[in-house]
Amino acid sequence: MTHNDELLARYESSVLGVFGRPPLVLSHGDGCYVWDVDGHRYLDLVGGIAVNALGHGHPALVSAVSKQAGEAIHISNLFTSPAQIALAERLLGIAGAPEGSRVFFANSGAEAIEAAIKLSRRTGRTGIVAAEGAFHGRTTGALALTHKAAYREPFTPLLPGVSHVPYGDEEALRAAVGPETGAVVLEPVQGEAGVLDGGAAYLRLARELTSAAGALLVLDEIQTGIGRTGTWFAFQQAGVVPDAITVAKGLGGGVPVGALVTFGPEVSGLLTAGQHGSTFGGNPLAAAAGLAVIDTIESEGLLAHAALAGEHLAEAVAALHHPLVSGVRGRGLLRAITLTAPVAAQVAASARDAGFIVNPVAPDALRLAPPLVVTLEQLDTFVAALPGLLDATTAPEETS
Ligand SMILES: *Cc1c(COP(=O)(O)O)cnc(C)c1O
Repeated sequence: MTHNDELLARYESSVLGVFGRPPLVLSHGDGCYVWDVDGHRYLDLVGGIAVNALGHGHPALVSAVSKQAGEAIHISNLFTSPAQIALAERLLGIAGAPEGSRVFFANSGAEAIEAAIKLSRRTGRTGIVAAEGAFHGRTTGALALTHKAAYREPFTPLLPGVSHVPYGDEEALRAAVGPETGAVVLEPVQGEAGVLDGGAAYLRLARELTSAAGALLVLDEIQTGIGRTGTWFAFQQAGVVPDAITVAKGLGGGVPVGALVTFGPEVSGLLTAGQHGSTFGGNPLAAAAGLAVIDTIESEGLLAHAALAGEHLAEAVAALHHPLVSGVRGRGLLRAITLTAPVAAQVAASARDAGFIVNPVAPDALRLAPPLVVTLEQLDTFVAALPGLLDATTAPEETS
């Protein structure tokens, strides 16, 4: 029995089974590599699902978190800290948020969405328009906005008033937004749906329709934000100004932290003292991590690098001209390699055996969301291995 198997047996008899049986027990990481407990090394092309923006063990993040841990990890929101204030200012700056904008800190993406739902309720309207394929989290409020039936149906009835429109369909959006709409909530790129890009025109239309209807435009940047698509936030490539954005995943570089950024004084004034809260949200440890991540993305030029590395990957995969590859979707370092057959899970498993972690986000799509510090050479090692991994896939009738 390997150490992996031994620990996974203990996992299965102690950890609630909602994630199924994980394939590996990971012990540590360094840069873009992680190691399992049997000593095998993997190139981490998923980055903890777009979380490990700086990879593993980045000295700037390690030292910021270590220093903060020695000073104060937690103080509650009965008080504030220099780190919390600085991170709020920094987030407003990178979001290009206008005067009068504000930040609410949470501990996760779903909690940032919950805050956005409460913000929307404060418009006095109960309608929320979200998109088919949307993923906004698993808490019951966020789940009402998430579209996938398998996630929702065991928990109905969910929060009422939410409607889902086909993502990217301009006419459907036009028809759905009206006087009852408190907010339209959209991901600029739908990560969990398989890295589907809504495009700039769609976000601009959403802005027009919500402004005309007096509804909020909330953009869920939990997966696309913090440099993932080559700019601080994906909405910045569409030239729209939303009313609010939700941020999490990459922000803490692995330390749990989420945020709702409200744009301008009017929207920021919707939630007032006593109307929302969190015990842990924006604690000094999380805030120090967020500051280190943002500072490092800036000082290492990782926005431009994410854009360049993403293009490099897409071109290199296309240049393989492999019959099982139909294309590469996405922006920056949020990508999906699309396949002509539903073999993504099989390819991901053989990639793992070959030392690469990729995510079969759909039966016919492999998602890559590597640390923003991934090098072109590291990406090339995966592209070089890909044809062999694809060639080794077997049609179901050929396996025995
Ligand atoms: C991951 C994700 C969430 C939920 O974040 P959690 O931290 O898992 O609660 C919400 N929206 C989007 C777009 C995400 O990718």
